[in-house]
Amino acid sequence: MPARLLLPRLPLIAATAFHRALATNTSVAVAHSLPEQVKIVEVGPRDGLQNEKVIVPADVKIQLINLLSEAGLSVVEATSFVSPKWVPQMADQKEGLRLRYVSCVLGCPYEGNVLPIKVAEATKKLYSMGCYEISLGDTIGIGTPGSMREMLTAVIKEVPVSALAVHCHDTYGQALVNIFAALQASNFF
Ligand SMILES: [Zn+2]
Repeated sequence: MPARLLLPRLPLIAATAFHRALATNTSVAVAHSLPEQVKIVEVGPRDGLQNEKVIVPADVKIQLINLLSEAGLSVVEATSFVSPKWVPQMADQKEGLRLRYVSCVLGCPYEGNVLPIKVAEATKKLYSMGCYEISLGDTIGIGTPGSMREMLTAVIKEVPVSALAVHCHDTYGQALVNIFAALQASNFF
């Protein structure tokens, strides 16, 4: 199992449905500032295992995924479409999978600061290519609630909130507050 903490992505899909409810039920509007429902995606078999030093056989991965499913996780990310040259752990994935990540949305180990407008442009491009859901990843975990809000504000101008998810790493203990900020931001649109 991966040693580091892997936090799920919390897609903002529910926010849109909730927002519609506000228009017809004002009593709900007073009580809530967050989406009523979110989708949690378990990413251990993909994001976790790709950091393991040994290659985990496909049948063991499948066993892990089945156990996670039996534990009650309804959505489990099994693999990713990356070059096995760079991530040999994912060499058993199959083509036709839909690309769905924009990485380093709140900072990059090579470029440093990442402008929200650049994230919005990349997300818009993936959406126009037919990605059904695009996950915005704080890959190195340097985001803050403020930078999360700023980035989402730019992205949501270009892509419907129903097509977005966030993926936060807990490098500096900020993942949960960043996810909370994303859920709040999703309700403004
Ligand atoms: Zn990740």
